[in-house]
Amino acid sequence: MAAQLPTLVQMLSQLIAIPSMSSVDPRFDCGNRAMVECLADWFSDLGFQTELMPLRHHPDKLNLIARSGPGGGGLVLSGHTDTVPYDEGAWSTDPFTLTERDGKLYGLGAADMKNFFPLILAAFGTLDLRALTRPLVILATADEESSMAGIRAVAASSERLGRYALIGEPTALKPVYMHKGVTLESIRLRGRSGHASNPRLGNNAIDGMYRVLGALIEWRGELQAAYADHDFEVPEPTLNLGNIHGGDSPNRICAECEIQIDIRTLPGMPFDSLHQALVERVERAVAGSGLFFEVRPLVAGIGAMKTDRDSAIVQSLERLTGLRAGTVSFATEGPFLNALGIETVVCGPADIAQAHQPDEYVDGARLLSMQSIIKALIAEYCLGG
Ligand SMILES: [Zn+2]
Repeated sequence: MAAQLPTLVQMLSQLIAIPSMSSVDPRFDCGNRAMVECLADWFSDLGFQTELMPLRHHPDKLNLIARSGPGGGGLVLSGHTDTVPYDEGAWSTDPFTLTERDGKLYGLGAADMKNFFPLILAAFGTLDLRALTRPLVILATADEESSMAGIRAVAASSERLGRYALIGEPTALKPVYMHKGVTLESIRLRGRSGHASNPRLGNNAIDGMYRVLGALIEWRGELQAAYADHDFEVPEPTLNLGNIHGGDSPNRICAECEIQIDIRTLPGMPFDSLHQALVERVERAVAGSGLFFEVRPLVAGIGAMKTDRDSAIVQSLERLTGLRAGTVSFATEGPFLNALGIETVVCGPADIAQAHQPDEYVDGARLLSMQSIIKALIAEYCLGG
């Protein structure tokens, strides 16, 4: 029997009160166990079968998979349970206390994206789980904001999820069918220090980096000549030279130099071989210099996402929102779901402009619109013949 759940706002308030920050910086990183257990309780109270998937690298980080409905096909409603860390002292109210002001709900994760799970749960105030004729799967992941370790674990598992998915990331209710991929890489050159007065006493890593920079800028030009997609605000792939450091004194030959770069790829570009292509460019650039080089990804990359514009789920969201599907400039867990053969669209009530910053909020009216959209999707994909 389905139990009586708290209201939408009560549930959101409870989730906001549970810290679940994830960060590549261990000082700000905490688990999501309490949040996932709270969600598991609510979904099992409704009659869902719940499964916790612990992540190997951290005992207090878990994914939740909640399932209901018979047969194949069906719908996956997917989101992440973690938030980014918050700026101490920069919030007007306590980030862990849901605060309503002028129809807006403030709190850490209110926009990105703790609202999504209460919205799904609240949809069952008027829907009966026992009426489902196809699977409805709720996926709540860990570590989306840091390493995407949660969705990577799902992708590596043999879990069968569904045919279509909605990810409730902040898009201001605009359906999103495509985004770019991103990878961050470090290129380090090592030579030998020596007195600046005689270059023969060492091997200058900055001189070598000059050759690498030339090769990177040339590669960027080639990528941009080869690929473009005008559905994106920035139609071409990008390669940003973001951070460079080398040497310590003008009178010493520089022994070490590192540059960090950000590459944003388009759907359809080779992604898995990008790192190797970079290694080859660097190798060619420093060939014969005697410099040692190392090319290393700073984080595991996230591929571009593209779901067919004609996919039923994209069409449904266009119809339900009245908006044409478009693109966003941030990455999501979508490519991992697409890789599992799940046609995925991203659409959520909050605005990315309010995410990842102090006084993050979600608009109350948009929450209600999203609740209707979720109900309609469940009806379309999981009810009836
Ligand atoms: Zn997010």
